[in-house]
Amino acid sequence: MSAEAAKLWCDDCDRSVGVETLEDGCCPVCGSPISTRERQALPWKFRLMLGATVIYLGWRLYQLIVWLSH
Ligand SMILES: [Zn+2]
Repeated sequence: MSAEAAKLWCDDCDRSVGVETLEDGCCPVCGSPISTRERQALPWKFRLMLGATVIYLGWRLYQLIVWLSH
């Protein structure tokens, strides 16, 4: 699992890059700097999941408010 977490994403190459292969925080292939804070390989999937979670929690909150009002 730790090997999976140590993967970063290079936007320029459009590929995942292992943390251990970084050269001074830059991609070993194209040499562009990679932010170590962007850890997820597929950001749009992550945002989709986050959005679904927010909608789900909102729905549960709505149900709680309806339940409390009775
Ligand atoms: Zn690159």
